[in-house]
Amino acid sequence: MSKLTVAKFGGTSVGDYPAMLRCANIIKNDTGNRVVVVSASAGVTNLLVRLSQANLSSSEQVSIINQVRDIQYNITQNLVNQAELNQEVDGILVELSEYAKLQSAEVSSKIADTILSFGEQLSSRIFAQVLKTVQVNAQYFDVRSVMQTNSSFGKAVVDTEKLKQNCHQLLVPLLTNQVVVTQGFIGKDYDNNTTTLGRGGSDYSAALLAEALNADNLAIWTDVVGIFTTDPRITDKARAINEISFGEAAEMATFGAKILHPATLIPAMRHNIPVFVGSSKEPNKGGTYIQKTVSSTPTYRSIALRREQTLVTVKSPAMLHASGFLAKVFNVLAKHQLSVDLITTSEISVAMTFDNPTGTTQALLNSTVVQELEKLCEVSVENGLSLIAVIGNKMQQKSGVGSCIFDTISGINVRMICHGASEHNLCFLVNEEQANLAVEQLHKAFFEQNVKPTELATAS
Ligand code: ADP
Ligand code: ASP
Ligand code: MG
Repeated sequence: MSKLTVAKFGGTSVGDYPAMLRCANIIKNDTGNRVVVVSASAGVTNLLVRLSQANLSSSEQVSIINQVRDIQYNITQNLVNQAELNQEVDGILVELSEYAKLQSAEVSSKIADTILSFGEQLSSRIFAQVLKTVQVNAQYFDVRSVMQTNSSFGKAVVDTEKLKQNCHQLLVPLLTNQVVVTQGFIGKDYDNNTTTLGRGGSDYSAALLAEALNADNLAIWTDVVGIFTTDPRITDKARAINEISFGEAAEMATFGAKILHPATLIPAMRHNIPVFVGSSKEPNKGGTYIQKTVSSTPTYRSIALRREQTLVTVKSPAMLHASGFLAKVFNVLAKHQLSVDLITTSEISVAMTFDNPTGTTQALLNSTVVQELEKLCEVSVENGLSLIAVIGNKMQQKSGVGSCIFDTISGINVRMICHGASEHNLCFLVNEEQANLAVEQLHKAFFEQNVKPTELATAS
C-alpha cells in the first residue's frame, strides 16, 4: 500500500466550490492522501462565534444561520445531488438553531463548543460529496468518535493514547480502499459533549491524527505557498521558505505565525512526521518542508509577530534576597489558569507577558488577579503591545545577534527583551503602533539585502 498522508485543508481552501474542487484534485492526484481533515468553510466559524454569544435576539440568530446556509448552498448548487445535500444541510441547521436558542436563554461554554462544531460538520459532509464528483471513493467520518478530549471547552486537551486506540479500532480499517473525510478542530469529552481545540485548531487535529495513525506525511494545504520569512500581509517582500526545521517552525507557530496552530508541530516532532505546507490554489508551486534535519541553518530564518500582548510588572522590596515570593505570584496566576509567556526579572521586580487573543486574559488581569497580586506587591498592567520574535539558529551562541536586531530598529522603543532560553529565537515587545514598522525594518535588513542573513551575525 502507498504511504499514508494526512492532508488538511483550511477555511479558504474549502470556502467555495472552485476551491473545494482544487482540493479534490490534489487528493485525487496522490493516492497517499487517504485521511482528509477539513476546516469550516471560510467565514463560518466567525459566524458561529457570534451565534454562541449571549443575548442574541431570535432575528439575529436567524440572520446568522441564513448566512451560514448561503455559504454552504453556494457550494452545493454546483453538485449533482444538490437537493439531497441541501436537505442534509437544512437538517443540520435546524439542530444548530436549537442550540442557538438554548445558548441565548443561558449562555454556557459547553453549548458554545457544540455551536462552533457545526462549521466543520457541514464542510466535511459537502467536501466528501465534491470528492465523489472527481471519482474519489470518499467516506464521511465523524472525528468525534476518535478525538477523545477532556471537558475544557474552548481549549480541550486531547487524550492521545485514547485517540490512538480509537483510530486503530475505527479509522484504520476504513483506509484500505477509500479516502476518509473528517473534521478538524472538534472532539468529544468523556460525557459525549462536543468540544473544540481552540481557534485555528484544525492543523493540530490533523497532526494528532497523523501521529495516531503513524502516517508518513502531514500536508497542510492553505492559501499561501508555504511558510514565509514573515507574514505576507505585513510586507509583500516576504518570501516562501523551502525547508525549515521542526524547532524553528514550532517557534514561529508559537510566536504568532498564524499559518500553523501553535501546537501543530508537537505531535509531528514526537513522531518525526515530515510536514508540508503549500497552497491549495497553486499546488504546483511547491511549498515548505518542515522536518527534523535541514540542509541549511541560517542565523536568521524568519520574523513572527503576535499582537495584543499584556505586560504585567510586579514589584516588591520583599523580593530582595527572599525566597518564595515568585512562587506566591505564580500560585495566584495558576489559580486563575493564566499562562505566563515571557518573563524577565530585576532585583526587586518581575515583568511577565500574557497572550491575550480574546480579551479574556486582559479582563482577568484588570480585575481579580490584580487585586490578589496587590496583596503581595505593587502591580502595573500595560496593554497595547506586540511581541516580535526573530527566529533562526544558534542565536544565543553568536556574537552580534542582539546588536544586529536592535541597531536595525534603533528608532523604536523596545519594552522587554527575552533571549537565551531558546537557540531558535530572540523576542521583544514593542508598542502595537510600531510593530509593523519594526517587522518591515528587520525583514529588510535580514531578507532583502544582498548580504546573506548568516553574515549579519558573526559565528563565534
Ligand atoms: P487556513 O485557513 O488555511 O488554516 P490561516 O489563515 O489560518 O489559513 O493561515 C494562513 C495565513 O497565515 C496566511 O494567509 C498568512 O496571512 C498568515 N501568515 C502569518 N504568518 C505567516 C508566515 N510566516 N508565512 C505564511 N503565512 C503566514
Ligand atoms: N474552523 C476553526 C476556526 O476557524 C478551526 C480552523 O479553521 O482551524 O478557528
Ligand atoms: Mg489556520
